[in-house]
Amino acid sequence: MADCIFCQIVRGERSAYKVYEDSDTLAFLDIFPLVEGHTLVIPKAHCERLQDLHPDLTAKVAHAVRAVTEKLEKALGAPATTIGINNGKAAGQVVPHLHIHILPRYENDGGGTIHSVVRTTTQRSLEEICHLIAKAR
Ligand code: AMP
Ligand code: ZN
Repeated sequence: MADCIFCQIVRGERSAYKVYEDSDTLAFLDIFPLVEGHTLVIPKAHCERLQDLHPDLTAKVAHAVRAVTEKLEKALGAPATTIGINNGKAAGQVVPHLHIHILPRYENDGGGTIHSVVRTTTQRSLEEICHLIAKAR
């Protein structure tokens, strides 16, 4: 997309600190890092959310996330990583081009876990929710 900043990076119209690239994916440092090495992995083809990704690219993106995770941990001596997607506006997605955040993590770095992202009171039973999700097409 012409005005998408991540597509502009893919096309070389906007600079980025690239750390990994293959035929279908690109990874570069987040411009406002939450931690040293905060990296974004993207599919080169524009899509907004994970569900919009062409099915043929799902494995390619997963491969890139894995490769970048290995590189980050090795390069920075990080014993762990937090990996996540703000998958849609309501989840905090600001740049509407699918990107997977990878954050190097350390013991006692003061950060939270996935469990600190959101916590709302549950109304429906696990059984009810399980049924709803399992039958969705
Ligand atoms: P979000 O859409 O909320 O998942 O996050 C978008 C991320 O993209 C933020 O962490 C920004 O710091 C990052 N970002 C925005 N513009 C650029 C850019 N030109 N280069 C690298 N990272 C960027
Ligand atoms: Zn784009």
